[in-house]
Amino acid sequence: MGKQEDFVLRALEEREVRFVRLWFTDVLGYLKSVAVAPAELEGAFSEGIGFDGSAIEGLARVTESDMLLQPDPGTFQILPWRGEAPATARMFCDVAMPDGSASYADPRFVLKRTLSKAAERGFTFYTHPEIEFYLFQGKPAAGDEPVPVDRSGFFDHTAQSAGSDFRREAITMLENMGISVEFSHHEGGPGQQEIDLRYADALSTADNVMTFRTVVREVALNQGIWASFMPKPFTTHPGSGMHTHVSLFEGENNAFFEAGAEYQLSQTARHFIAGILVHAAEISAVTNQWVNSYKRLIGGDEAPSYVCWGHNNRSAMVRVPMYKPTKDQSARIEIRTLDAACNPYLAFAAILAAGMKGLEEEYPLPRETEDNVWSLTPAERRALGLTMLPKNLNDAISVAEDSELLAETLGEHVYEFFLRNKRAEWEEYRGQVSAFERDRMLPVI
Ligand code: GLU
Ligand code: MG
Ligand code: MG
Repeated sequence: MGKQEDFVLRALEEREVRFVRLWFTDVLGYLKSVAVAPAELEGAFSEGIGFDGSAIEGLARVTESDMLLQPDPGTFQILPWRGEAPATARMFCDVAMPDGSASYADPRFVLKRTLSKAAERGFTFYTHPEIEFYLFQGKPAAGDEPVPVDRSGFFDHTAQSAGSDFRREAITMLENMGISVEFSHHEGGPGQQEIDLRYADALSTADNVMTFRTVVREVALNQGIWASFMPKPFTTHPGSGMHTHVSLFEGENNAFFEAGAEYQLSQTARHFIAGILVHAAEISAVTNQWVNSYKRLIGGDEAPSYVCWGHNNRSAMVRVPMYKPTKDQSARIEIRTLDAACNPYLAFAAILAAGMKGLEEEYPLPRETEDNVWSLTPAERRALGLTMLPKNLNDAISVAEDSELLAETLGEHVYEFFLRNKRAEWEEYRGQVSAFERDRMLPVI
């Protein structure tokens, strides 16, 4: 038993933990949990805990349903919303096959595998997500337009606002669970909030995103409101993105930084951006995985719709932040496609794989886009060689189906399950008759 395992076993006693929740994530990014008694943990560390994987989306075929959860002791935390003595704790788990080998269907493993490929080349991948979401007055009834908790806008400070009380409580809870928050504010839509997590290695931030969504929902419920990460809940208000700042480190050095280079961006960073751009369309089924995701990428409201990069250009898909990094540590790029309802493990893996491909193949970085790309004419966009991101889930699936990069990154099982599932979502959606159509047609035709 290692040091971390010992620490967990001691903490179980000291904190009077009654239940330990073993957390893992299905292919679509839903958090799953199995609760075990503390006495089970010693065995869980050495042999894993058996469970029926066939009940979980995308995890296993019915014929090979026995799987194991192997808790990662480094992720042990007490759940603050479950109270103290007795307390409830959680650990993220790796999913394993009965013989102990990693499950090819576990999104956390997909990310780990991609991270170790980068590590073989000497790189550690850091991410820093800016998570946007809406707060509504209670759970919206089916078919109803949700009612936001306030009417404020971007960075508004209003006395006694539901949003700032909410943010204070959510941030305190996150910090109690070891998740540092860098920044938070009211976002552009009524009731819309943003909380930015401090940068960390991509496996920790992906775990943190999963915890974040749970904490935000729990705190909202406690306050009698409802939180949602739906990418575009309103036709007329901005969607919720999960802009992600990324960088590659080689040991202590930020490989994206080069003193004196244009925007202090190294050649490594330039190839990496090029990779993200070249493969943006193929990975968008993962970075933007729902029918609703594509309603956010419609043009405007600071969500990208064209494949381009820019320096301090908020219409660009990849943005190089404006400030001049004085410390090389903070050199990074911001990828603005991701939405807050993605599976963070798969999305970070896809982004890293696309960037690394750019690096391996030394893709040239196209010219930056200085203009607001939404206000250009189609002819101007053509002249700049700007292509569009997929306009809907169907287009995204079609490009993904031809993507070697995605097949290789997700692995055969996840790739096939994922595309089959997304195709089914599209087919179901395609037949839905909407209020838009009725309002347009019934009065006149
Ligand atoms: N809500 C916007 C989006 O959907 C982003 C706003 C911002 O620039 O932070 O991406
Ligand atoms: Mg924002
Ligand atoms: Mg941003």
